[in-house]
Amino acid sequence: MATSPEAQAAQFRIPTPQELGFDPLQLRSKYADERERRLRSEGNDQYREITGDLEKFNDDPYIDQVLVREPISASIHVLIVGGGFGGQLAAARLKEAGFDDFRIIEKAGDFGGTWYWNRYPGAQCDIEAYVYLPLLEETNYIPKEKYSYAPEILEHARRIGRHFDLYPRTCFQTQVRTVRWVEGDKRWHVSTDRGDLFKARHVIMSSGPLNRPKLPGIPGIEKFKGHTFHTSRWDYDYCGGSSSGGMTKLADKRVGIIGTGATAIQCVPYLARDAKHLTVFQRTPSAIDERGNRPTDPNWAKSLQPGWHAERNENFVSILSGIPQEEDMVGDRWTDLFKALSKLMSVSPSAGMTAEDIAFMGEIADYQKMNYIRDRVAKSVTKAEVAEKLKPWYRQWCKRPTFNDEFLPTFNRDNVTLVDTEGKGVERVTEKGVVVNGVEYEVDCLIFATGFEVGTAYTRRSEFEVYGKTGESLSDYWKNGLRTFHGFHAHGFPNCYHMGLTQTGLAPNFTYMLDRQATHIAYLLKELKARGKQVLETSLKAEDEWQDIVHKPNFMADYLAKCTPGYYNAEGKVGDGKSRGFFEEQYEGAAQFYAMLERWRKDDRLDGLELS
Ligand code: NDP
Repeated sequence: MATSPEAQAAQFRIPTPQELGFDPLQLRSKYADERERRLRSEGNDQYREITGDLEKFNDDPYIDQVLVREPISASIHVLIVGGGFGGQLAAARLKEAGFDDFRIIEKAGDFGGTWYWNRYPGAQCDIEAYVYLPLLEETNYIPKEKYSYAPEILEHARRIGRHFDLYPRTCFQTQVRTVRWVEGDKRWHVSTDRGDLFKARHVIMSSGPLNRPKLPGIPGIEKFKGHTFHTSRWDYDYCGGSSSGGMTKLADKRVGIIGTGATAIQCVPYLARDAKHLTVFQRTPSAIDERGNRPTDPNWAKSLQPGWHAERNENFVSILSGIPQEEDMVGDRWTDLFKALSKLMSVSPSAGMTAEDIAFMGEIADYQKMNYIRDRVAKSVTKAEVAEKLKPWYRQWCKRPTFNDEFLPTFNRDNVTLVDTEGKGVERVTEKGVVVNGVEYEVDCLIFATGFEVGTAYTRRSEFEVYGKTGESLSDYWKNGLRTFHGFHAHGFPNCYHMGLTQTGLAPNFTYMLDRQATHIAYLLKELKARGKQVLETSLKAEDEWQDIVHKPNFMADYLAKCTPGYYNAEGKVGDGKSRGFFEEQYEGAAQFYAMLERWRKDDRLDGLELS
């Protein structure tokens, strides 16, 4: 029987700590203490750029043979920077739109992007494979399991390369150096580290948001005499084995790993199995939910009808954008998390709850979820004092949620030690090992699972500079933050399209986002051609208006301001009036953003763009 808003108003009250079984205010204060302990005045500057003596951490260990070739000089229609899924999707959608005259420039030795680099043992995508792997219907491929491991994903990238005939159009092992608009030529002149010069009418930037490894600012890294590498440059020559394990050369080695983020969660169980001893250095524990992987049901695969992939993707992104769906096709921990959040956000104030009540109930639901995560630690780790150290004390969206069933039980092994730095981080690296709280832990091999540059300048991360119509660099144009229209265009930088997270609509499923962006860019190029024009540029006015849209105060900015530091909140700086978090400067809702772009295309007016 439906209850009237008045009756609900009379009924509503915040549950008591006794009813809840915990005191929300106590947890709030505990979270604040834990945040305080971790705040560092340097914010993002605490990390070290991989340059100079540290450049070796950036070397590509996966190339069999260094490519030798003559410099290329060519005039082309489109140049795509990056051969990850973004660049491949751009190429595929361009081909479908009838454009064949393009080149991809890729610094790595093959396609795959993040999956080319991240081959560490146990690497797996935690977004369901049936939605994550792009172009499944086009390539007629069904993933083997619900959550794919890295080799299957890398092989799929190669499959896309073959299917769309992208190999002959791609320059691998090539780093773009400068991208310069030449007004007299109405083209971008793109130079590379191999002496190439491409003159391209259009450039598409898809160098990825998490592509440049970073190291912690720990003194002494250069002094370490043992072996060392970053997880995104895994040294199988040293370890032996492959990404599915069997690292036999570690059998007599003491291995240390710094970092306990999404990457470490996946590789630690493999290291523990193969190393003589493993020491895990932790600053902040991850929140680890259930994985629950399973093989693909062949009958389900046979039952799929044309259009299934797009339909499943739309269903997933809609749920994750707070748009209720009759059916939850993916039905996993991601959709559970977002359905719970949407349910909460949809509570009507007329049900007797004030805005503060709703926010507080949200906080309570968050504590309940994290209590479950902490209980899971207690149930998985036998030694109570170790379990205590592995419990995360922050709200669930402060850090990237992780999903794994093996990491926690790894700490029950005799050959594994957890060194918790109580939020302070590793003190120092010596010739022989790692120092925490004045104690030196000797290791033969030290692995950095310390992630990627996120808060640094876009051009530093992409490792090249872009000069627009007036000669101004993109770094200068964006020195006070990003400025785009629809996330793709910057005024003064005609025929240049950014893909990824530049003021667009952030979807946890990156490939969905990249595919929608690629489709939009292909449309723009097609329209330009159909209208007999060559150059497309956004107006300052459109760019200004877009700033108003993406800078609207949003729920996440406030949430992140109270979070423990991490790359989601500019290492705790969000809220200082200057720093921006990972979720900020995005259109509210990924599904809503791409639906808006679709309406914009249907309008057929190209509002916000000037053609010449
Ligand atoms: P993260 O940036 O998430 O983690 C870095 C780790 O290094 C953190 O645990 C951090 O601690 C720790 N650290 C940094 N400085 C120090 C220090 N001085 N002393 C001790 N520890 C330190 O990097 P990851 O490579 O784990 O993950 C990056 C991203 O890649 C993920 O967030 C995710 O988006 C993506 N990814 C996705 C996967 C997928 O399944 N799709 C799988 C793996 C990664 P602290 O938390 O205190 O900062």
